[in-house]
Amino acid sequence: MLSYRHLFHAGNFADVFKHCVLIQLVEGLARKDKPFCVLDTHAGAGRYALDAAWAQKTGEFREGIARLWGREGSAPEIEAYLAAVRAHNPDGALARYPGSPLLVRGLLRDTDRLLLCELHPADHPQLKALFAGDRRVAVHHRDGFEAIKALLPPPQRRGLLFIDPSFEQKHEFKRLLDTVCEVHKRWREGMIAVWYPILDRAPSERFCQQLAATGIPAILRAELGVAPYDSPVGMGGSGLVIVNPPWQLDRTLARILPELLATLRRDGHAGETRVEWLSPG
Ligand code: SAM
Repeated sequence: MLSYRHLFHAGNFADVFKHCVLIQLVEGLARKDKPFCVLDTHAGAGRYALDAAWAQKTGEFREGIARLWGREGSAPEIEAYLAAVRAHNPDGALARYPGSPLLVRGLLRDTDRLLLCELHPADHPQLKALFAGDRRVAVHHRDGFEAIKALLPPPQRRGLLFIDPSFEQKHEFKRLLDTVCEVHKRWREGMIAVWYPILDRAPSERFCQQLAATGIPAILRAELGVAPYDSPVGMGGSGLVIVNPPWQLDRTLARILPELLATLRRDGHAGETRVEWLSPG
């Protein structure tokens, strides 16, 4: 248990997709003056050294953020993501990758709040140190699923629940389905985003169909596949389901995902993008 370490995967193609969308979700909340709260249940270490031995060993970032680095003329939403990563690499060389906690913090105003949970005994202290002294951010060493019950809905009422698990548990999709249903019952206006890997297509497909059948309105699904699915070499793509997404996120993603695909797809593989409503708003 807890054998997954995000430092081996930071900045890979799935992070690029996930973090481009995450920035759009938080920017959507920040469009209104009223304060919001983000709960990131699986926060990771917060920041990753791409020149460290472990990142160099897997080299996953080379097929992710490194392919976009130095590019100009991207869509404004991709540019916003690249600017956020550049802010952590001030000398211009790609050496550090900011995880979801730092990307969200970059968009917080004084009145907004960020709640972070990380269970790994090595990653939690790093995360804690990174946010020391920032009174807008609370870092918890606790189970993210258990924290949801205690911390949501937030006093601000407006906000985002971001669930980005490591999929080490056998029944992860079932737990995610139950969690989305339970949270939506107590926090109807809350935005909920759940990331999932696509290896073998069937489990994620089943998860999305089960979500669609819950009767929860306004669920958007977005996927980016850069390599064949059902391949023995591992994850070919990943997706996000988003309950109560920001206005026109569907249009934005339909525009930017093909651009991401063109940059990130592997070895002549055509790849695919998908943006569709699982249930109407
Ligand atoms: N969200 C991060 C980002 O985008 O930068 C990456 C998170 S990584 C995919 C998943 C993290 O969840 C790992 O750091 C792992 O240690 C942590 N984790 C696994 N099970 C957890 C749990 N039940 N509660 C909180 N954290 C957990």
